[in-house]
Amino acid sequence: MPKTTTKYITEVLNDWQAYGVEGHFKAKHAWMPYHELVQASFMNLTQSSYNEVVAMNSLTANLHLMMVAFYQPTSSKYKILIEENTFPSDKYAVASQASYHGFNPNNAIIEFKSNNDNLVVSIDSIIDTIEKNSDSLSLILIGQPNYLTGQVFDIAPIVGLAQKYNIKIGLNLAHGIGNLDLNLNSLNIDFAVWCSYKYLNSGPGGIAGLFIHEKHHKNSHLPRFSGWWGHNQANRFTMPNNFDPMTGALGFQLSNPPIFQLASLRASLDIFQEAKIARLREKSIKLTGYLEYLINQEFKHKHNINIITPAQPNERGAQLSLKLANAQSNIVENLRAFNLICDFRFPDILRMAPTPLYNSYIDVYNSVKILSKIL
Ligand SMILES: *Cc1c(COP(=O)(O)O)cnc(C)c1O
Repeated sequence: MPKTTTKYITEVLNDWQAYGVEGHFKAKHAWMPYHELVQASFMNLTQSSYNEVVAMNSLTANLHLMMVAFYQPTSSKYKILIEENTFPSDKYAVASQASYHGFNPNNAIIEFKSNNDNLVVSIDSIIDTIEKNSDSLSLILIGQPNYLTGQVFDIAPIVGLAQKYNIKIGLNLAHGIGNLDLNLNSLNIDFAVWCSYKYLNSGPGGIAGLFIHEKHHKNSHLPRFSGWWGHNQANRFTMPNNFDPMTGALGFQLSNPPIFQLASLRASLDIFQEAKIARLREKSIKLTGYLEYLINQEFKHKHNINIITPAQPNERGAQLSLKLANAQSNIVENLRAFNLICDFRFPDILRMAPTPLYNSYIDVYNSVKILSKIL
């Protein structure tokens, strides 16, 4: 938890106590435009312009809103391509969207698969899958990086193909935001969504974010589910009958946001603003490289660990996924007893993520010793 989180949330509590509902305008940081306090950070973390990003809702809710806008299937072009090993919630979301439009998810959802048991997918096989299904694909959704393997995909050639075949493309940045040095505007994807409680440290149930590329901002035919918070800020509180959306991502806001959550997100993002994502990424590459080096040294003559995350720094973020031989499902508890927090995905994948904001080289060194001892 960032040290300033308590202070920022207490400020909101004090304003609430002093002003009640009038805190919308009178609070030290007025609640009505409070989301603007995180706007610059979201722009810097994603390299986007002002109207392309917004903090709102939760990730899965935003994913559905983006599919309302960008998944517009026809009887012949209706399929959605996702990773085989995607976070299950994303599979539920795309399957339910396909069903909602009257398609059978078993047929409408295509997965790009890895050709070996280390679960990593080659760019050639992704391109091949898109080429083979180019007529029927409507949407491509990719986790950047993949949550299980930590693989970062080369998105540019995929975007090129998507445009060639008139396929929409969105990214799920749950594990990318605050981890990778992103450049969403120049990447030219259609949309992206993320949560803020992973690398961004916004705390439990933290508010999520979304990106809509500026090339769509003048398209008044983009379908959307609307709410009053997307209405022109100048006369939002006079609540006219006709919806006049704000430009871009801001116009997709539905509700007045949870200010406590925005306050805790602001506390964390202020640190990212100061540290700067490019510098964090630079340290992250070294920190993760050091972890990889130590694991390779430590387990060189023992065949009980295989790093499945790609070795190239541009094909991964902070995370290394280790495939364990003879994995014990209580490994996470055993590591936690030494204050080492990792994640285990059944049946055999341990995820470790040295985080440049608060992990040191010594932490990395000690963690490999602990891991060796436990295994
Ligand atoms: C963490 C994560 C989610 C979680 O979704 P919420 O709506 O925030 O609960 C979804 N997708 C991916 C890929 C994730 O890593």
